Amino acid sequence: MDLLTTLVDKGLRRELPTRDEALAVLATSDDDVLDVVAAAGKVRRQWFGRRVKLNYLVNLKSGLCPEDCSYCSQRLGSKAEILKYTWLKPEEAAAAATAGVAGGAKRVCLVASGRGPSDRDVDRVSRTIEAIKEQNEGVEVCACLGLLSGGQAERLREAGADAYNHNLNTSEATYGDICTTHEFSDRVDTVQQAQAAGLSACSGLIAGMGESDEDLVDVVFALRALDPDSVPVNFLIPFEGTPLAKEWNLTPRHALRILAMVRFVCPDVEVRLAGGREVHLRSMQPLALHLANSIFLGDYLTSEGQAGRADLEMIADAGFEVEGTDTVTLPEHRADTAAAGCGSGRGCAPCDDAGSSEPVAAGAGAGAGAGAGARTDLVAVRRRGAGTDLPPNA
Ligand code: SF4
Repeated sequence: MDLLTTLVDKGLRRELPTRDEALAVLATSDDDVLDVVAAAGKVRRQWFGRRVKLNYLVNLKSGLCPEDCSYCSQRLGSKAEILKYTWLKPEEAAAAATAGVAGGAKRVCLVASGRGPSDRDVDRVSRTIEAIKEQNEGVEVCACLGLLSGGQAERLREAGADAYNHNLNTSEATYGDICTTHEFSDRVDTVQQAQAAGLSACSGLIAGMGESDEDLVDVVFALRALDPDSVPVNFLIPFEGTPLAKEWNLTPRHALRILAMVRFVCPDVEVRLAGGREVHLRSMQPLALHLANSIFLGDYLTSEGQAGRADLEMIADAGFEVEGTDTVTLPEHRADTAAAGCGSGRGCAPCDDAGSSEPVAAGAGAGAGAGAGARTDLVAVRRRGAGTDLPPNA
């Protein structure tokens, strides 16, 4: 396919595809899915070889959020029967993090529900970061605490945080459909605050919320313009008790096309296969390793993932290797920028051309989710690990 040859060439040069090309990836047929994976896999290997970075989630504070993000089991009014607890003590969080590191995780992601942290919360998380780093030499710590206010990113950086996560989730045009208590621009602002403080920015999306292919391309182009170092690609876990419980829109093949599109648009970025991979990719998960160079190990914030041991076996069986702490994840040109903390909030080469791309083609990729069916049997609420007395899945 000429399309794939063009996209591989562009990906190897870190050149931005056009929006039409990105949409065309999402519109490819199931007959072509292996060709799409093979093409995007070439780009993945150029920048990340066959390495897979493992990340481990610790939910510091679960549920009881005043915000109304409709995809979230922790939202205001959620009837999902998830674990609910307030802040873990630093030593409790450190114990959970250490289990993840022992399982092979290189990065620990500290997440707390809520609109954003108070200054007291930042103090508490700072103590947690210090406890984790004391016990786990070389581990990366990413904080994900919601919307930041003045000076908080700098304080987290001073406490030893390496990265900050705040996802854009969906396109600016449809953001109001999934959340009314904050805006897309608030999320962009927090990512930029993190970048300005010298934190490595992590920002991604959720697919499968009923959005169009145009929306998916919009959010991925918005991410490229922001130029985070890592882009988690989540597939909606439709929790019973949330407004999106009936949104089963993805097939495993379309999930692969979405990951390939993200890889082509953000070729040299850590693309992370995130929540919902077991639910939507199912037996196709190993193919996704040809597209993403990073995954979460074990359980998610409020739902169970597959066993940590199964993750490791999948990686080995597919011919990939777990990335060690002695390896720098990002390609040299990007790692240098992250380490220097240029703070511009803008990308160096790859993002600056994002605004000059072609307009979105109407109607591309329609019906891509056809054939998706509800698999509520695959959605299990997390009952172990952080906030419980049971050992974590790592
Ligand atoms: S995504 Fe975050 S801010 Fe939104 S409801 Fe869930 S915990 Fe709250």
